[in-house]
Amino acid sequence: MFNLLKFHSHSRGMASSHAVSFAFSSSLGSRFKYKPTRVSSKLRVVPPRAGDYPKPDLDVPSNKNFQEAKALSSSIASNATSVTTPQRVIIVGGGLAGLSCAKYVSDAGHVPVVLERGKVLGGKVSAWRDKDGDWIETGLHIFFGAYPNMMNLFAELGIENRLQWKEHAMTFAMADYPGEFTKFTFPKGLPAPFNMAYAILSNDKMLSPVEKIQTGVPLVPMLLGGQEYIDAQDELSVQQWMKKNGMPDNVRKELFIAMGKALDFIDSDKLSMTVILTAMNRFINETHGSKTAFLDGNQPDRLCKPMVDHFYNKGGEVHTEKALKKWLVDETNGNVTGVELTSGEIITGDHYVSAMAVDAFKLTIPDKWMTDTDTKPFFTQLNELKGIPVINVHLWFDKKLKKYDGLVFSRSKLLSVYADMSECCKEYADSEKSMLELVFAPCDATAGSSKNWIAASDEEIVNATLEELSRLFPNEITLDGKTGAKVIKSAIVKTPRSVYAAVPGRNKYRPSQTTPIQNFTLAGDYTSQKFLGSMEGAVLSGKLAAEVVADKFAGRAPKPVKEIAKEFR
Ligand SMILES: Cc1cc2nc3c(=O)[nH]c(=O)nc-3n(C[C@H](O)[C@H](O)[C@H](O)COP(=O)(O)OP(=O)(O)OC[C@H]3O[C@@H](n4cnc5c(N)ncnc54)[C@H](O)[C@@H]3O)c2cc1C
Repeated sequence: MFNLLKFHSHSRGMASSHAVSFAFSSSLGSRFKYKPTRVSSKLRVVPPRAGDYPKPDLDVPSNKNFQEAKALSSSIASNATSVTTPQRVIIVGGGLAGLSCAKYVSDAGHVPVVLERGKVLGGKVSAWRDKDGDWIETGLHIFFGAYPNMMNLFAELGIENRLQWKEHAMTFAMADYPGEFTKFTFPKGLPAPFNMAYAILSNDKMLSPVEKIQTGVPLVPMLLGGQEYIDAQDELSVQQWMKKNGMPDNVRKELFIAMGKALDFIDSDKLSMTVILTAMNRFINETHGSKTAFLDGNQPDRLCKPMVDHFYNKGGEVHTEKALKKWLVDETNGNVTGVELTSGEIITGDHYVSAMAVDAFKLTIPDKWMTDTDTKPFFTQLNELKGIPVINVHLWFDKKLKKYDGLVFSRSKLLSVYADMSECCKEYADSEKSMLELVFAPCDATAGSSKNWIAASDEEIVNATLEELSRLFPNEITLDGKTGAKVIKSAIVKTPRSVYAAVPGRNKYRPSQTTPIQNFTLAGDYTSQKFLGSMEGAVLSGKLAAEVVADKFAGRAPKPVKEIAKEFR
C-alpha cells in the first residue's frame, strides 16, 4: 500500500540482535570490566542550538518540589561521612530506577552492584543502533520542568547542557483543521498560575469562553486541596470525575484524551482522574512545570552512562546480561540470602533491591513471602498492578515535513504524542529529511482499543500510523504514496508491559519502597511516589529506595511500610 522500502521490527528484550551502544560484557567475581570512557560525558559537549530555549531556573525557593528533591539528595549524601564499612547492595534491574538507586546508594557511601537482564541499560529508555547505524528507541521521551528529581540528577551529574529546552507551549495537531497546529503558549516572565491561565484564555481554537469557565471552576478544589484532594480522586475515571463536576465533554475531547494517552497510553474512559490532576497540578503551580525538553541524543549514552560513571568511580558495579532467576531466602525469617541468576551464578550482598518493572518482579516473588501472614498482604497487592502496552513508531521520510521543533499532541484515535526528531534532537538532526517518532496508543482492550495492536504486524502498524498522519496532514502525507513525503524506512518497538496501567483505584496498591522483609527494598516507577509511572517517578523511586537502604545500614528507622489496602490486610 505504501512505499515502504524497509521494515525493522523490534520488541523489548530483543536488542541483542543489534549493534548495541553502551553494552557491557563482564563476569561477576572479577572486578567489573566496564571502562568508563567519559567520551560522551565530557568531551561531546555541543553548544546549544540556535533553536533551543534557555534552561529554566528551577532552583528557586518558591519551587518547593525542586527544593525537596535537592534536600533529599543532600541528606542521602550526608550519610557517607558516618559510613565506616561500606555495604554491598545488589540491585536487580538497570532501568532508570535501578541506576538512580545505584547512584544514590554510592552517594550514601555504600557499594551498588546492578544486575541487568538486557544487553543494554535503560529498560524503557533503552535504545540501540540498527544495521544502518540509526538509533532505535524504546520510547519517545520528554522531560518536564516539573521533574524535580530528574533535574537535580542532571545537575548532580553535570550534564544539564544535554537537555534541549523547547518553547513553552502545549502544541496540538488540529483534527478539524488538517495541516494546522494550535498552541497553548505560556508567556515569558509571567509566574504560575497566571502563565497557564493566560495560555488557556488566549487560545480560542479548542475551547469556547464558557467551556473555559466550566473547566476552571471544578479545578479550584485541586488548587486548594493539593495532593490530598488529587489522591482522593483515584477511584474515578476521567469521565466519571467530569460528570460529577459538571465539566463539558468537549474538554475531554479536546484536551484530556490527548493528555491521558500521553501520560499513561490509555483512553480517558479507562484512566484514573488522579493522573490528569497530578499533571495539571504541577503545571499550574510551577512556573516552568510544563516546559518540555528533549535529551540531545540516545538515552543509554547521554543519560544512563553518566549515571554509571558516577557510581563506578565510587567502586560500584554494573553487569548486563545477568538475569535474576530467583531470590534465595532464609526459610526462618524470609530475609534474602542471595540471588540466583538464570546462568546458575549466585550473587550475595548485604542488602537487595528489586528495580524490575512490576510485571517482571511479580514472577520472582518467593513463595514464602506470598504465604507468610506478615508478608503476604504486601506482596499480594501487587497483583492489582499490571503494565499497559504501548508501541513506539519510527518513520524516516524522504524529505522534510512541515517544521516543528517540539512535542506535538496528535489528537488522533491511534496516536498519542509525536515529534520530528530531525528537528528536536541534535544527535538525530537532519536538515533534509524528517524522522518522526510517534507513540502509538491505546494498544489493547485494557487501554481502550478494540484491536490488540501488540499482536498486529509491523506493516499494519505503520499503515495505520500513516493513515492517521494523512488525515492530520493531507497536504504532506498521502495514502497513495505518490504525492507528498514518502516513508523510506520504518521501525517498530513494542512494549507489551510498560508503565503500570493507571486505571481507577490503583494508587492504594502501589507499594512503599520499604518492604516487610528486613534486607529487601523496592524501586521502580510503579512504587509509591507522587510522580506517577514516568522517568521522574523511576528516578525518585530509586532515590527513595537508596534512602531506605542507607537508613537501615545506619540503624535509623526507615520510612514505614505503606498501609495495605483493606481487602488485602
Ligand atoms: C513508549 C514509551 C514512551 C514513554 N515516554 C515517556 C515520557 O515522555 N516521559 C516520561 O517521563 N516517561 C515516559 N515513559 C515512561 C518511562 O520510560 C518509565 O516510567 C521509566 O523508564 C521506568 O523505569 P524503571 O526503571 O522503573 O523500569 P524499567 O525501565 O522497566 O526498568 C526495569 C529493568 O529491569 C530489568 N529486568 C527485568 N527483569 C529482570 C531480571 N529477571 N533480571 C535482571 N533485570 C531484569 C529490565 O530489563 C529493565 O531494564 C515512556 C515509556 C514508554 C515505553
